[in-house]
Amino acid sequence: MEKKISTLIENIKNSESRDLVYYWEEEKSFPEFVDNFKGLKLDPRIVKVLNSSGIKQLYVHQYDSIKKILNGQNLMLNAGTGSGKTEAFIIPIISECLKNNDKCFAILIYPTKALALDQMDRMYQLTKELGIKIAKYDGDTPYDQRNDILNNPPNILITNPDMLHRNIQDKNLQKILSTIRFVVFDEIHNYSGVFGSSVHYIIKRLKRFMENPQFICLSATIGNPKKFAENLFGENFKLVESKKILRRKRKHLMIKPNHSKYSEAVYLTRALSEKIGIKTLIFCESHLSCELLKKIADFRNIRLGIHRAGINIKHRSKVEQMLKNSKYNAVVCTPTLELGIDIGDLGAIINLSIPPTFSRYLQRVGRSGRRNEESIDILLIGEDPISNYYMHHPSEYYGSSPEPVYIDPENPDVIKKQLISMCIDNPLVPHDLLSLNEKEKEIMRELLREGYIQIQDKLYIVATDKGEKLFYTINLRGSGDEVLIKCNGKIIGKREKQLAIRELYENAIYMAGGHDYIVEKYDIDNDVAYVKELFKRRKYYTKALYNSTISNFKLINNKIVKGIIVNYGEGEINEKVDGYIIKDLVENKTLQKKELSVPLTYSYKTKMLYINLPFNSKYNISDRIKASHTIEHLFIHAGISLTGAKITEFGGISYPNGSIFIYDYMPGGSGLARLLFARFDKILMRSFEILKNCHCERDGCPNCVFSPFCGSNNEFLSKSIAINVLSDILYNNNDKLSLIFSKTPIK
Ligand SMILES: [Zn+2]
Ligand SMILES: [Zn+2]
Repeated sequence: MEKKISTLIENIKNSESRDLVYYWEEEKSFPEFVDNFKGLKLDPRIVKVLNSSGIKQLYVHQYDSIKKILNGQNLMLNAGTGSGKTEAFIIPIISECLKNNDKCFAILIYPTKALALDQMDRMYQLTKELGIKIAKYDGDTPYDQRNDILNNPPNILITNPDMLHRNIQDKNLQKILSTIRFVVFDEIHNYSGVFGSSVHYIIKRLKRFMENPQFICLSATIGNPKKFAENLFGENFKLVESKKILRRKRKHLMIKPNHSKYSEAVYLTRALSEKIGIKTLIFCESHLSCELLKKIADFRNIRLGIHRAGINIKHRSKVEQMLKNSKYNAVVCTPTLELGIDIGDLGAIINLSIPPTFSRYLQRVGRSGRRNEESIDILLIGEDPISNYYMHHPSEYYGSSPEPVYIDPENPDVIKKQLISMCIDNPLVPHDLLSLNEKEKEIMRELLREGYIQIQDKLYIVATDKGEKLFYTINLRGSGDEVLIKCNGKIIGKREKQLAIRELYENAIYMAGGHDYIVEKYDIDNDVAYVKELFKRRKYYTKALYNSTISNFKLINNKIVKGIIVNYGEGEINEKVDGYIIKDLVENKTLQKKELSVPLTYSYKTKMLYINLPFNSKYNISDRIKASHTIEHLFIHAGISLTGAKITEFGGISYPNGSIFIYDYMPGGSGLARLLFARFDKILMRSFEILKNCHCERDGCPNCVFSPFCGSNNEFLSKSIAINVLSDILYNNNDKLSLIFSKTPIK
């Protein structure tokens, strides 16, 4: 097989159809082993079972983790995929549990149900043999079983944050919480942004019913593991890290094809999965690119499974199984397969485009190369500015560091919802109030005034009907409403409402799970799209022509920072689809342009920050366009590090006159824009520092001004003009009269 891979790489090198931009071989690297379990004070029964199942050694990071857990310390383990993180916490937990197995001892919290199921299956072997009861309690657990589980609790309970959020109020669950000694959160790099801020509060809510539990958290490689864990849990942590584990030699290739990236991905999939017989996973960034690749592969008779968010869960688990059992040798996916679900032994990863963060590149390639053979990891680059940059600086890409992740415990919208939830879990008593910080107390008073909570018998604070009503609408994951996609009365998929109008307009070709459908009707008021299956797949696809604008800005608060009026308020994001184009599948040429008889529109209210950049007369119109667009990107980048948001949680729109809007992507608002407003002086400074600290020789690069989610393909950007405009603001703002702004620019 190694010879075949070498031949393929030779062919790629010598080919006219593609450019091998970079090739790098990463050597196998094993961390040191500790030879036995001596010095760990493990229960002899678990040592016996481990020995008989062939586990006689531990990696140093596993050994260190076990030791710290048994010493009673909170642990953060930061290590890549496939480094045995599960063993590092489950061995000491089981060992302690054996000494005391009559109650529920540990709660394991996973970010997704699929991962929880997968992990439970893996742990079951070990727990069964030792007579330890383990059970899963989540949205997929049938209602009649939920009560059984809570009435007869297992020793180890597996669940997720959403399930806990809804059910902490259950008295049986509270009883279980009171006996828990270990709280484990796996894959905590998922808990950034608004979701992370909510999880921070769920942890606080859990603590109300627990007696000094020990926290263990695990993460894929991130840039700031200890700090992130301490912020999330509000506790001190001991850090154990394992920088790198490579069980196979890994070959990284950066390829720039001279034709479409889809054709290239299909060529590589055929070469790897069919000719060499290597199991291959292809990552795409969007539903559309995932479906397009599947369709092109179908036309070229390449067997390819598809796995993405938005199509039904049955289809997805079937594809996982088929990949595991080698019924599929290649699967195309969105980031759905990034998390550690066991999908068997993969040999190759292809990224159709550059992943949004380097941490995610590491996570994806970590899926390949689990046994003793070589693995091959391919990154395809295209024509966009981010690709162009790395085309000229490829080694910089592979030398990147994992990005830090953030949460903000001060997000007022999250605090509001979580304090109401806290009152629903159990009425607050004076003792609870002592543990609230100033910000939380202030929001408590607001909630009392607004009638979400009330004081009862002069002693308790409880939720009112209004508060309860709000509680049942809380969605921790921060997405808005969803549109159901129905075919012959059956639901075949879902789509977030903000994106649905771009995909479900009348006569659109909607692709799902490798089938073509035509949209017959989109009932926007009832959030349902009706589609009909086309039994013959079409050699074309449709793409909406749309635009987004902002209207009805209503000021909530404003202030002057460095001579600029900074406005915070509510406004409407208006998405409009006028028509669509029909594009050829293979050559990507536009075949036809169609107008919709009635344009499709969708507006939603959200919270936003709005400013008007002051321009002096030296800037011409082109400078102004570039400065506005660049600074819009910078505000979002700076906002991520200063508010803990994920990049997809902000939207931005800029206008040539210097108006910049940064809005909460979540309908209704997520609290992030409000934080931008409160910290606007820091946002300005951080934006300026991002530019100044980036030493790119071009007029901007992926580290300073490019954004992986830019709707204008990262065009009309300029680092140098943005530096000038920002330094005018930061350092020469005495000439305030020359600044042109208006309070309500848009009606
Ligand atoms: Zn740069
Ligand atoms: Zn942009």
